[in-house]
Amino acid sequence: MLKRAQHFLLLIAGLFFALIVDPTLSARGGLFNDSEVDCFNRTTLSGRRPSSDSVATSENLASENASALFQEIAKIKWDYGSQNCQSFEGERIQVMPLDKDSYILRQSLCSHFEAPFMYLLFGKDKVLLQDTGATSDSASNPIREKVDFLIKKRERELGRSLSLIVIHSHSHGDHSAGDILFHNRPNTTVIGLQKNDVINFFGFKDWPKDVIKFDLGERVIEGLAIPGHQVSSVALYDAQTRALFTGDSLYPGRLYIQNFSQYWESMERLGEYGRSHQIDVILGTHIEMTNKLGVDYSVYDQFRPEEHGLPLLYGDLLKLIEQLRAMAHSPHRQVMDHFIITP
Ligand SMILES: [Zn+2]
Ligand SMILES: [Zn+2]
Repeated sequence: MLKRAQHFLLLIAGLFFALIVDPTLSARGGLFNDSEVDCFNRTTLSGRRPSSDSVATSENLASENASALFQEIAKIKWDYGSQNCQSFEGERIQVMPLDKDSYILRQSLCSHFEAPFMYLLFGKDKVLLQDTGATSDSASNPIREKVDFLIKKRERELGRSLSLIVIHSHSHGDHSAGDILFHNRPNTTVIGLQKNDVINFFGFKDWPKDVIKFDLGERVIEGLAIPGHQVSSVALYDAQTRALFTGDSLYPGRLYIQNFSQYWESMERLGEYGRSHQIDVILGTHIEMTNKLGVDYSVYDQFRPEEHGLPLLYGDLLKLIEQLRAMAHSPHRQVMDHFIITP
């Protein structure tokens, strides 16, 4: 999510670009003439953690194949929007399974250029929804309808009702605009957007250093505060899928950083956490990269037929940490293969 001023500058730059450059360029892979690189078949990086006595650098990673879950999620073909969103007739929210008890939901590019991802995790007693989408009307953002459908289905299977907890990866509007759609929902808690709302709900005692546990019923989710992109940012770890949900703090796109030192510390803590927890897949809340290494789509592009896959690996987090260490005294924009550091 961009800050308002960044949005404005990028809009001006984007309009200028659109006027002078072939508008189909981004659909063909951008200005760069990189060789065709398949971002999905990365077999030299691994989601495996390094051995406990090693320094957390990507060089230490064994050359094992990425997990089956990573491969499955990377293969998902997300709706790629349209060059004419006015006549778009596709689903406004695409739903894909993550495992038998979890779903990935994505608001369509034609509903909003941010096209955020949301996650729905089922336990035996509770359901956790991370984020509610970028718009607040049910026509462009039928998140409530999709979530209700999935919960009702699960309640029928279990023979009992489930309570819904709506949490946010962080409080930017492209992840919380749909909150209003849940305000009248029975048996539902929508956690507030302020840092203290998050601290109080989960019982953080030493924010941002402690790790909290949240039991959905035979499925314990762990939460780590990761301020830096935004002050309320929280990462979630799910031992069942071995997935780390990182919001806008790490995803295949432009990693905007509001507070560099906080962000760096947060990523170091996540890296350390990964040394004692198996992380098979890192799932963020946007895709902005193309499937060419280091090449991103322009901010407002709603037609992205060659998107990068959604998942990243623990090794990508380690590479990010390496770069943050390297630029500690002079934070600057740094293009990486699978993301772009954007202080
Ligand atoms: Zn965002
Ligand atoms: Zn954001």
